[in-house]
Amino acid sequence: MSDPIALGDITIERIVEQEGPFFDVFEFFNDLEPEVLQEHRGWLHPMFVDVDNSKLNLCVQSYLVRTPHHTILIDSCVGNHKPRPARPMWDMMASDRYEKNFKAAGVTFEDIDYVMCTHLHTDHVGWNTRLEDGRWVPTFPNARYVFADRELTFWSEKAEADPESCLWVMDSVLPIVDADKAEIVKSDHWLNDHVQLIPSPGHTIDHYSVLAGKSGADALITGDMVHSPLQGRYPELGMFSDYDSAQAGRTRREIFGRFCDTSTLLCTAHFPSPSTARITRWDDAFRLA
Ligand SMILES: [Zn+2]
Repeated sequence: MSDPIALGDITIERIVEQEGPFFDVFEFFNDLEPEVLQEHRGWLHPMFVDVDNSKLNLCVQSYLVRTPHHTILIDSCVGNHKPRPARPMWDMMASDRYEKNFKAAGVTFEDIDYVMCTHLHTDHVGWNTRLEDGRWVPTFPNARYVFADRELTFWSEKAEADPESCLWVMDSVLPIVDADKAEIVKSDHWLNDHVQLIPSPGHTIDHYSVLAGKSGADALITGDMVHSPLQGRYPELGMFSDYDSAQAGRTRREIFGRFCDTSTLLCTAHFPSPSTARITRWDDAFRLA
């Protein structure tokens, strides 16, 4: 368990579900050249990439943000008891790690006021629901679940056309809508003066990141706008499940440029622990460290 990060009058804490070498780095970043990986071996290996075995180290986690007004969970990982035949490491998980880490943060499921899903991929929606008497029910009974409108429409239509192709939408997103717990917003929505959504499209159609805190003491919870600090040095480097890699690259350049050389802390979904970085210049791109 990591220590909470205090920024002004908010705190941010990670709730880790998994961490490890889940993916082959060349399958994950399908345009990555082996020579580029070798060129950056000095700082990538072994923390971010096990270069010798071509494995990308990733964390799967939520961020718990406490403001003076709300307790907010950003992204909800993979979840338990969910069929994920395409991803053996996430298929029918039955782990107590997430719930234990959640408890260790000193909060209960009832305490969560908002669940914000940066996008609707399988590793960001899983704990939205849990199995109860054979039904998927909201895990956080008092929460509003914040979905971007075009993101929700995109995945709902996909699930309707071919449910088997997006099981996670069937068991972790649509039951939230059916339970009338969804708060459907634009991806630039302001919750209040402590929490603002920042559109960061490309990885998915209407992906958002979350800017939390007040200017000078704030953090950008990125979601999957970025998967590795290698994409700081090479913002145009896409990954295999991007909706539109070119757009994702433009988003990274724009957002990294906006927060470059500021105190804003990046809280990434998937960088290995401690998963945070600040942004500085690096040649014509950015260093995330
Ligand atoms: Zn992800």
